[in-house]
Formats: sequence, C-alpha cells, structure tokens
Amino acid sequence: MDLFDVAIVGGGPAGSSCAAFCALAGLRALVLEREKFPREKVCGDCLNPSCWAVFTRLDLAKRVRALPHAKLERVEFIAIGGRKVIVDLPSGEVCELAIKRSLLDDLLLKRAGELGAQINEETTVTALSNSNGWKIETAGGKNFVAQMLVAADGRNSTVARLCNLLPRPERERIALQSHLRLPGNFGNRVVLQLLPHGYAGLSPVNDEELNVCLVAKPRNISALKAWATKRFDVLPDHTWRTITPLTRAPIPPERENLFLIGDAARVVEPFTGEGIYYAICSGKLAAEAIAKIIRGEDRQASLREFVRACGEMYRGRLWINRLARAGVLSPRIASFLVRSAPLSPAIMRLLTEKIAGRDD
Ligand SMILES: Cc1cc2nc3c(=O)[nH]c(=O)nc-3n(C[C@H](O)[C@H](O)[C@H](O)COP(=O)(O)OP(=O)(O)OC[C@H]3O[C@@H](n4cnc5c(N)ncnc54)[C@H](O)[C@@H]3O)c2cc1C
Repeated sequence: MDLFDVAIVGGGPAGSSCAAFCALAGLRALVLEREKFPREKVCGDCLNPSCWAVFTRLDLAKRVRALPHAKLERVEFIAIGGRKVIVDLPSGEVCELAIKRSLLDDLLLKRAGELGAQINEETTVTALSNSNGWKIETAGGKNFVAQMLVAADGRNSTVARLCNLLPRPERERIALQSHLRLPGNFGNRVVLQLLPHGYAGLSPVNDEELNVCLVAKPRNISALKAWATKRFDVLPDHTWRTITPLTRAPIPPERENLFLIGDAARVVEPFTGEGIYYAICSGKLAAEAIAKIIRGEDRQASLREFVRACGEMYRGRLWINRLARAGVLSPRIASFLVRSAPLSPAIMRLLTEKIAGRDD
C-alpha cells in the first residue's frame, strides 16, 4: 500500500486548495472525495474578492475568470416592506464574481491533480485509525495510509465525527438552493431580501441563470419556498437542494497529525458570502504547516503558526457573522435596520466593506 505524506478528505475548495499547495511543496498528496465532479452544492455561488490572491498563487485567476460567470456590481439589502439599501462592490480585477460551484470546484480539483495530487473521486471515507500514521478506510473497501490527515469534508465532517470532535448540530435553520431562470433585467446585483419567514439570497451566475438561496427556521421553510415558487414562477414540485445546520460550534483546527480546514473547522453565516475564501485560505495555511513538519522543521512552532494564522484569518470578522446571524434569525429586526435611514446605509456599507474589501 502506498504511503502518502498527506490524505485530504473532501475535494471542495478547502480540500482542493490544500492538495494543490501540498503538491506545489513537493508532498505526496491524496484527495478522497465522495462525489463525482462536476457536482453542484448548496451555496450562493458568490466569490469574495479576497479569493483572488489565492487563485493567483495557484496560477488560476485567468482560468477562473474564463468560467461562465456574472460580475456583481452592487449588493441590495431589501427590508420586509420593500425599502432598499444599495452598496457598491469593488470593481476592476479584484471584483466579486458569481460562478456555479459545479464549475469552480471542478476547476480547483483539476488544478490540484495537474500539480501532482492524486485525486480519488466517488470515494467515501468511512473509518479511520491512527497509530504510526493514519489508516483510512473507504466505502468501496479500498484502504489508504498517510502520515497526516486533513478534514476538508464540510460542515457535517465525517472525519470530525469519527474522531469524536463533531459538536452537536444546532438545527435552528435550514437552507434550500436552486438555479432558476434569470428574470429579464435582473441586473448585476446580489440581493439579500429579508422576508417575514427568513431571507432569500439572489444572484445571477451567468446570462441565463439565477442562484436562489432560501434560509429559514424549519417550521418556516415551506412558506419561504411558496414565496419563491410564486416570485420566480417555478413548478411547485421543483427540486431544491438542501443543507443544515447553518451554524455550529467551531472545532480547533489541529490535533495529533490531524488538520481541520474550511467548513469542517468553522461554519460561517452564509449571508456574508465568505465561506469559500476561508476554505481556500485555510487549505493553503494547512499545506504550509504540513510541508514544514514533513521537511523536519520544528513541529510545535509550525503548529503554533498554523493556529495563529487561522485565528488571524477570522480576526475582526466574526462579529459580522454574529450580527448577520442575529439579523437573519430575526428578519423583522434586520428590516428595521435597513429601513432606518440614514443610519443603515452607513452600517450596511461598513458590513459590505468588511466582507468584500479585504486586502491580502
Ligand atoms: C445557503 C448557503 C449559501 C452560501 N453562500 C456562499 C457564498 O455565496 N459565497 C461563499 O463564499 N460561501 C457561501 N457559503 C458557504 C460555502 O458554501 C462553504 O463555506 C464552502 O463550500 C466550504 O468549502 P469546504 O471545501 O470547506 O466544504 P464543502 O464545499 O462542503 O466540500 C466538502 C467536500 O467533502 C466531500 N465529503 C463529505 N464527506 C465525505 C466523506 N465521508 N468522504 C469523502 N468526501 C466527503 C463532499 O462531497 C464535498 O465535496 C454558503 C453556504 C450556504 C449553506
């Protein structure tokens, strides 16, 4: 059986980025991904401008821009009752794009393969043991061995569950998502619309399709779905993708040759559209730490630096998540904020700048 330096469970943005940076550092990297790509995902499909720095490091910026996309020029916050606050997004090279996850994730995973990582799709990790390296068992009966293990398998991480690290989920809300026909004259905007039962995030992803995300408490999700069915003229039996939980306690990002990255480590409020950035950035940070340890550099110092850098990545931004979460848990209070001009444009601008105006 081949011994890999690092096995990465999950080939989403976190896993692909980690695999690509590990391969760039000359490590023998393995990705185990449950699905066959390309595949869609419950996501708003919006790429925070901070992502460009990581794409550039992977020599991917041009190829990302060449994917079918929508260039987003502004965010519209719409309160219950219809009042709007409009905030411009950055323009130029580091703008915000919306790209379907089937396309983006496929490109990232392919890039990891091009750089030398071994990619195994349709391979579901089912069991783990750790003595003298990690032994990883998969549903097809194929086993793998690696010195380091990375959990990049999302918010309901199997790796975290198998290692008894997964916190109890807070099933306080549920999300539905679909790509629908883009209404005429929708414009290059992201809409965050607060509704009595929850909120809707709307964003074009190309010239023909609109990404629609609906977030509500379980008891309200049917009412929100009925609103979207009418608003976008979809068939009542239309199939929506679904995911829960939208919030859970974070897990410390490292322990005993195990690294947790992306949603597996920390789930952020979808409202802020930052999850993909945290995923690819934490993937890069984990790869840097793993490369140092495998090369024989000071293990404890490398781990400390990784934990510090992960903390730095979120610093000053978690309050936005808490604020956004409080707002969407209570759409009426959030609507009051949007309605209470002239204060709210300043708050909304601050929020959007914090989210979209980051330099790396
Ligand atoms: C409603 C909603 C809207 C959002 N909108 C945005 C947005 O607009 N912009 C943004 O940046 N973020 C958004 N996010 C967040 C974003 O989707 C996530 O943060 C991002 O997908 C995290 O990437 P990841 O690689 O950590 O995990 P994932 O993308 O979840 O990838 C995990 C991968 O692991 C695989 N996997 C799982 N279990 C196993 C297993 N046992 N064995 C092998 N493979 C496995 C899965 O198949 C999957 O491919 C949104 C989230 C939600 C819920």
